[in-house]
Amino acid sequence: MWIPRPVHEDALARLRPYAEVATGYGPGATSFDEVSDRVAAVLLRTVRVDGTMMRRAPRLRIVARHGVGLDTVDVDTAKELGIAVTTTPTANSRSVAEHAVALLLAVRRGIGVAVRNEGDTRTAIRGRELSGATLGLVGFGRIAREVATIAGHGFGMRVMAHDPMMPAADITAAGAEPAHLATLLSRADNLSLHVPLVEGTRHLIGLPELLALPEGAVVVNTSRGGILDESALLDAVRRGHLAGAGLDVTAVEPLPDDHPLRDEPSVVITPHTGAQTEEALRRMATEAADHILAHLAA
Ligand code: NAD
Repeated sequence: MWIPRPVHEDALARLRPYAEVATGYGPGATSFDEVSDRVAAVLLRTVRVDGTMMRRAPRLRIVARHGVGLDTVDVDTAKELGIAVTTTPTANSRSVAEHAVALLLAVRRGIGVAVRNEGDTRTAIRGRELSGATLGLVGFGRIAREVATIAGHGFGMRVMAHDPMMPAADITAAGAEPAHLATLLSRADNLSLHVPLVEGTRHLIGLPELLALPEGAVVVNTSRGGILDESALLDAVRRGHLAGAGLDVTAVEPLPDDHPLRDEPSVVITPHTGAQTEEALRRMATEAADHILAHLAA
């Protein structure tokens, strides 16, 4: 099998007893062309596997994706050639959820301001506790559910959720209050976004939605950059309507050094590191390895 970019070492240890593992990196780095005549499986992180590559690999049976998102795989050609394509959709949910809460805490407690340490930081900061505050979740899938558990059980927050595709009873059973978007926005002291980026969700949160939040609200985005209109966010922060924002994802990544959001002390920005934990990286890689082993054994 071929692994083009480094993945957690546990996945390689799991695969090596069963098959030759060629890597596209490190000593003896091997290109796809060098293995295409015999490769049965590809464990894919970021590199693209297109239709031409698939057609050049007569023994290829599975492309196992590390993480979610199939933008790097030509799914149509895979289907045509009978090549399985798998993902690991739940492997990083907990890590991203913890990151969303970390960003919320960082903004609420002025940690970005404190780290900059400009002027009399100590007296300039007046943080807010999460306990007793309301958290509005837009999207209530895998990551949002984890956020709801941490925020509700861990911090004693009131959790509301808007997800038109999710039965209200499921949202209630998971410890959150189902709400229409307008209701949620009017009550959410803290808003966290957890929807996929599709045409219907692009700029789902723009200036009208941000101004519908209570004054002093905080917005966290760990989903995809295009969901939150960043110009509107900047405007709402500069007007003083929002107390700040935490962003793990932006429309352009990495966010340029001279982007005006970087000049806002109340905006904490991380470079898409929500899933970058030892646990998530291990789960994504070993689950992908297990998909390969199960598929080749079948
Ligand atoms: P998921 O598919 O489990 O949940 C998404 C939910 O959004 C679904 O329940 C769906 O019904 C709901 N939804 C769709 N359109 C909606 C709308 N218009 N309004 C409200 N709800 C809507 O996805 P997930 O695994 O929880 O991931 C959520 C987001 O996090 C995705 O954008 C994903 O790309 C992103 N993500 C980011 C990182 C990171 O490193 N920051 C890592 C993994 C995933």
